[in-house]
Amino acid sequence: MFKTYANGTKALKGASFDLEPGEFAFLVGPSGSGKSTIIKLLIGEVAPTDGKITVAGFDVSAIKPRRLPQLRRRVGVIFQDFRLIDKKTVYENVAFAMRAVGASNKQIRQRVPYVLDLVGLDMKSKAFPTELSGGEQQRVAVARALVNNPGLIVADEPTGNLDPARSLEILTLLQKINELQTTVLVVTHEKSLVDQLSRRVIAIDGGRIISDGTGGYYNYEEF
Ligand code: ADP
Repeated sequence: MFKTYANGTKALKGASFDLEPGEFAFLVGPSGSGKSTIIKLLIGEVAPTDGKITVAGFDVSAIKPRRLPQLRRRVGVIFQDFRLIDKKTVYENVAFAMRAVGASNKQIRQRVPYVLDLVGLDMKSKAFPTELSGGEQQRVAVARALVNNPGLIVADEPTGNLDPARSLEILTLLQKINELQTTVLVVTHEKSLVDQLSRRVIAIDGGRIISDGTGGYYNYEEF
């Protein structure tokens, strides 16, 4: 993928990788290396200058705006700052993501309790985000990303606002979700977590993929 922003910044200079269905991978790299740009390309938020992006059989690089909702159903996103709606309960935050893609009330009533149970928040469905810990808020965001049963989940620094114990919890949860056949891509700076998990690590620097293999973040520093 190539991406040159309107001001001439070359954010991606031929960064290319494949994720197999059901795979789990970390995307690591220094600030400004192009990680967020990759996420924005995957969710159709920006268009590539050149190159092709396919997500679950969908050509994202050529997507028409009216088909964006279909793409959003296939890709769940989790952000560092959770991005929950404070005025809505946990249940309503998750239900909202289903309403946004036109799910029926019956589908919502069946699916929301299931995903809240999966992330261990079934007891908190009536709570508001401000009544939850950071780790719990991020678990709501994970439930929301999952609720439309996407083929791919991308997490942009999902543990950036959490302490080490809560960070490990979120990554353990993302691995559990991955075991249920969802492809997961986690962007992170958290070296110690990446090292602990011994997963595929795609490293990017200066808009290019500089290493791609299984193991710790340290592999990336050697390049
Ligand atoms: P990372 O997520 O790894 O920190 P980004 O993908 O955000 O990196 O940024 C890659 C490069 O593109 C940086 O040089 C950044 O300043 C630039 N960039 C990001 N977004 C924009 C934008 N909207 N307009 C111009 N330049 C941008």
